[in-house]
Amino acid sequence: MIVDDQHYDVIIIGTGAGGGTLLHKLAPTGKKILVLERGGFMPLEEQNRSNVDIFKKERYHAPEQWYDKNGEPFSPQTNYAVGGNTKVYGAALLRMRDRDFEAVNYQEGISPEWCLQYEDLEPYYTEAEQLYMVHGSLGIDPTEPAHSADYPYAGVTHEPCVQEVVDAIAKTGLHPTPIPLSLTRQQDDPTGDSEVFGVEPALKLPNVTLKTSARVVCLHTSPSGREVKAVEARIGQESYLFLGDIVVLACGAINSAAILLRSANEKHPTGLANRSDQVGRNLMKNQLTAVVQLSAPNSGKFLRSVSINDFYWGDADFAYPMGHIQNTGGLLQDIIYAEAPPVLSVFSKLMPGFGIRQLATHSIGWWAQSAVLPDSTNRVRLDGDKLYVDYTANNIEAHDRLVYRWIDVLKTVEKELPTSMLQRGGMHPRGESPLQVVAYQCGTCRFGTDPSTSVLDVNCRTHDVDNLYVVDSSFFPSCPSVGTALTVMANALRVGDHLVERLQ
Ligand SMILES: Cc1cc2nc3c(=O)[nH]c(=O)nc-3n(C[C@H](O)[C@H](O)[C@H](O)COP(=O)(O)OP(=O)(O)OC[C@H]3O[C@@H](n4cnc5c(N)ncnc54)[C@H](O)[C@@H]3O)c2cc1C
Repeated sequence: MIVDDQHYDVIIIGTGAGGGTLLHKLAPTGKKILVLERGGFMPLEEQNRSNVDIFKKERYHAPEQWYDKNGEPFSPQTNYAVGGNTKVYGAALLRMRDRDFEAVNYQEGISPEWCLQYEDLEPYYTEAEQLYMVHGSLGIDPTEPAHSADYPYAGVTHEPCVQEVVDAIAKTGLHPTPIPLSLTRQQDDPTGDSEVFGVEPALKLPNVTLKTSARVVCLHTSPSGREVKAVEARIGQESYLFLGDIVVLACGAINSAAILLRSANEKHPTGLANRSDQVGRNLMKNQLTAVVQLSAPNSGKFLRSVSINDFYWGDADFAYPMGHIQNTGGLLQDIIYAEAPPVLSVFSKLMPGFGIRQLATHSIGWWAQSAVLPDSTNRVRLDGDKLYVDYTANNIEAHDRLVYRWIDVLKTVEKELPTSMLQRGGMHPRGESPLQVVAYQCGTCRFGTDPSTSVLDVNCRTHDVDNLYVVDSSFFPSCPSVGTALTVMANALRVGDHLVERLQ
């Protein structure tokens, strides 16, 4: 074991939405910061995904195996790189709706209240939207919560084939809205991520050190168990120990929980900071179904641009939340087939003889996205070196209803549009994302005021270990139907303010 000869004020582990954004906040303090990142820098051509390579569906799956509840191995769809999953995400940055922070009745139970409310996070949502150059439009979506400032840039325009459909959807009385997107306005790397906006600017400062290809294995505490003393990481064939005053985990909900569980010691026999037995539990991930609509020819290469939230809280026929709809973007650069492989096979059967490129340029894709409820048996656990994800989705009927509502909308729209635009009476092949799609993973270290039922306090510091924080999607006590990235970023900025104060 090599003991690094430096002592850091802060060690941040992971550079995704949480870690990268926190780094942006802490770097200007001048404090000595070490960033440990398991991946390396992604080459530009891989990030842009603008060619058919995306259909090699294993491309963004991590080179490791996790195990499901039946012990079957799978390759998780998660990206280890500087910028983490924000290097491959859709860059759709939506705020959670204000009611998402409250106790809400779902069909299968109550989604619990958060220990802070929308108003507490609102200034940080605004800060995150400024930092990530979010392009959006207020005043259309009836579920959009109050904003203290407008989006920094106007909402995006739609690809012509999508615009026609959007106009027809609006005529049905729904409220299609330009989806808020993080855009750099740079041709070579158009979508904004935590490397571009968080890590890159911080690395220009002399007090920040980044070590890539540094996989953190576990954390070591002082003999009392009250503080983390050292971070153990593998770099190449060597094991290193890094010493710091404050340690922040930001490895994504599943990996952060695994590191805590792997750090069990005499004072923390069931895992570090796990007095509540909640570490790894209440893993949640959005239910995702891809629906494909046959359309007039299009380029197949365009960004996602529209969201529809009219069914978010239910409708006249179903009094419970259903979820969120967004288009997938041009299928040639979208990760849809990688996330929902069954769609591809259904589609291929429908149109025999069509190649992937032809299928993608004659279709528009949609995502139906619904929340799940926290369930303590949905969990990350370790058995020796093996990482298990015990997971069974819930809130399934609400999600199915959303999918069927959406297909009804598409059928109505298809009746209105000329057949040159959309195939009238066409089929709508769809596919649900399997377990390995862990894109919207959250939970596993929920925050709360009661140390017996939560892992983190309101500042995302572990209840049990004074200098240990978690700032990725682990802290979510419930799961919204919109994507998690903007909330992770906003929360990292909020925790960052707390840490700036603590470091003074
Ligand atoms: C294909 C795809 C599309 C998506 N689209 C959207 C979208 O449009 N909108 C949205 O809101 N969300 C989207 N998401 C989800 C979004 O990317 C996540 O919500 C967000 O990145 C979570 O941030 P995080 O900080 O929790 O984790 P991540 O961003 O995953 O960051 C974790 C970091 O930790 C590093 N790491 C992991 N383990 C270790 C270790 N042991 N040692 C050192 N480093 C480690 C990883 O390499 C990574 O850099 C998408 C995700 C995917 C995969």
